[in-house]
Amino acid sequence: MNIILFGPPGAGKGTQAERLVSERSMIQLSTGDMLRAEIAASSELGIQAKKVMDAGELVSDNIMIRMIELRMSTDEAKAGVILDGFPRTVNQAEALDEMLSNNGVAIDHVVEICVNEDALFDRIATRASQSEKVRDDDNADVLKQRLKVYRDNTAPVLPFYRDKGILSQVDGMLSISEVAEKISEVLDS
Ligand code: AMP
Repeated sequence: MNIILFGPPGAGKGTQAERLVSERSMIQLSTGDMLRAEIAASSELGIQAKKVMDAGELVSDNIMIRMIELRMSTDEAKAGVILDGFPRTVNQAEALDEMLSNNGVAIDHVVEICVNEDALFDRIATRASQSEKVRDDDNADVLKQRLKVYRDNTAPVLPFYRDKGILSQVDGMLSISEVAEKISEVLDS
């Protein structure tokens, strides 16, 4: 099974993806984590991406599509993936569709984790205060921009999946374990 966890920054996609990894034999593909690994390795891509990420903008579609294409072609990905943070544009969604159909597979479920925007500012502040290494993009100013980018570029991906009949919504304001339960219900439906 291949699924996408969808939602604005701070919605809990990463947390829920990690739970699914330990509960089901699927791997998590988080493009944000991949980019942070590039930054940690001080690669050319990491250096370029950091500027874009710190500004709350999106890394280019070409780079992101190539990055996901490489991971999707591995044997472990064939058992099923949880995409977290990808696709973030309609272009990325279309490229993903093509990539999967070339391999004879498809996305089975897109789960939108719905949250109240005001709560996101509190969550990001909490995440920043609890992490050992604070993300440079986890602050109120950058979050404002990330939310704008979400509304302008990422939310328009939702109709693409709604039209395919594979979009479900869960209430992301519930507790972590309640959200996990709702996601499991969708995946088992
Ligand atoms: P995340 O950890 O998913 O919140 O991603 C952190 C940042 O990485 C985002 O704000 C973007 O700058 C960049 N990023 C992650 N995934 C993508 C993507 N699919 N397309 C473009 N930029 C991305």
